[in-house]
Amino acid sequence: MSTDHVVLVTGGNRGIGRAIAERFVAEGYPVAVTARSGEGPAGTLTVRADVTDAAAVDAAFTEVEEKLGPVTIVVANAGVTKDTLLLRMSEDDFDSVVATNLGGAFRVVKRAAKGMLRAKWGRVILISSVVGLYGSPGQINYASSKSGLVGFARSLTRELGGRAITANVVAPGFIETDMTAELPEETQAQYKATIPAGRFATPDEVAGVVTWLASDDAAYISGAVIPVDGGLGMGH
Ligand code: NDP
Repeated sequence: MSTDHVVLVTGGNRGIGRAIAERFVAEGYPVAVTARSGEGPAGTLTVRADVTDAAAVDAAFTEVEEKLGPVTIVVANAGVTKDTLLLRMSEDDFDSVVATNLGGAFRVVKRAAKGMLRAKWGRVILISSVVGLYGSPGQINYASSKSGLVGFARSLTRELGGRAITANVVAPGFIETDMTAELPEETQAQYKATIPAGRFATPDEVAGVVTWLASDDAAYISGAVIPVDGGLGMGH
């Protein structure tokens, strides 16, 4: 299968973003990834961008448009954590996480929307987290940024839903990446005990849901939050 829709994945040099980019390549899409460091997987165009910098995001899109064409599938995946309890959380701990996870999605989707409106077709996929709706001690900054993505996708659906543009949220649970590898073994075991599936997921298990949301089969799904969490957050 191949498709003309150009994909851009932020943070595609490692982790979940890399797996998403690989999956789109395997499905025959032209794919660009943004990276601050390193490179995207084989078959992708890597462009440099820090998602906290609107000018860098704009330049990255311009490069992708020149080399591959207008981006009509955008995956806002780049994200960070800076965990600590509320009373120890500094202004910067809060602001920097929100600026990357929520502000980054804003900058990237705003820039992508122009091309989608011109193409009269688009897919916006925001990578949130189970903790956005479930909550997590020590993650007030992160959870706030991730639940913000839900309001974002739903408002965007109401703005652009009539133009064949969908906006959805994917909410992963615990996925085997650098982000979770940092957790102590004991904490990992405690988390696993609370997950009905009894295990963490691979990045590819998230990637398959993302490519499906970009497909024609998902044309009538918008403003949805799709959990990929082994049942951890069900009902939220
Ligand atoms: P990783 O820590 O493995 O990778 C994070 C990615 O985001 C890297 O590519 C990193 O780039 C990029 N990034 C971070 N900050 C910026 C920035 N300011 N500008 C541009 N790129 C940036 O994370 P995961 O793959 O685990 O997570 C990917 C997404 O999935 C995140 O949004 C995360 O919150 C979410 N998620 C992850 C879960 C998990 O269990 N792993 C669970 C739920 C959600 P660089 O290499 O340059 O630092």
